[in-house]
Amino acid sequence: MRVKPLAAPVEVEPPRSGEDASDCVACATPDDAYIWISERWRVRAMDRPTGLPMVLILECRSHLDLGDLPNLLAAELGVMTVRLERAIRSLDGVARVHVNRWGDGSAHLHLWFLARPYGRLQLRGTFLSLWDDILPVIPEQQWRENLALVAAWLAGFGGEAIAEPPHIQWEAPSTITYSPAANSNEPSPSTPEEEDQRPATLGDIESAKTDSTPPPTIAAESGAIDKPTAQPQATT
Ligand SMILES: [Zn+2]
Repeated sequence: MRVKPLAAPVEVEPPRSGEDASDCVACATPDDAYIWISERWRVRAMDRPTGLPMVLILECRSHLDLGDLPNLLAAELGVMTVRLERAIRSLDGVARVHVNRWGDGSAHLHLWFLARPYGRLQLRGTFLSLWDDILPVIPEQQWRENLALVAAWLAGFGGEAIAEPPHIQWEAPSTITYSPAANSNEPSPSTPEEEDQRPATLGDIESAKTDSTPPPTIAAESGAIDKPTAQPQATT
């Protein structure tokens, strides 16, 4: 490992992505790509689960950067920031929510919310976004449940939740094929509690992929639906 040499400063910085509203990705992205939307704000997730329990981006609908916000949007940004922090911190296994605005890549205002896993003291501080690329990816089911919980939490105050709890049907035994070799390595099917646990290593994720998952129960399904509607009221 060698320290990267410091490059000379450029005379003129290159334009950021979407500097012109006509080719701005955020402005061109439809609402259904977001997990929650309102009249003036939208929240989106990454396109797939990553290493942290939750990574979300808050955007205003208007093509503005942070310093350009009129007072109404500036005030709402404060409210939205607090609301999102609470929603993400309420998720199981989240100790802290880092809030970042870098603004070096895209011109359209976007605030990052990164959940630090509970107990992972090594992840404290400025390197959390880099750890997101290094850590084992969290299970997709858990990620989708977390997205639905946050979306429902926000919708409890207004706007519309787009993310839904995962449809459990795709796990039904009739729609899934397991390799017999993979199953023979498993002494017994894992319990729902075990499924909820975050893997400690990449190996755990690989084995989880080939696990035989018990068919969903009514209790599990209604629990996933009840939780989001109950939680927003708890904060008012
Ligand atoms: Zn834009």
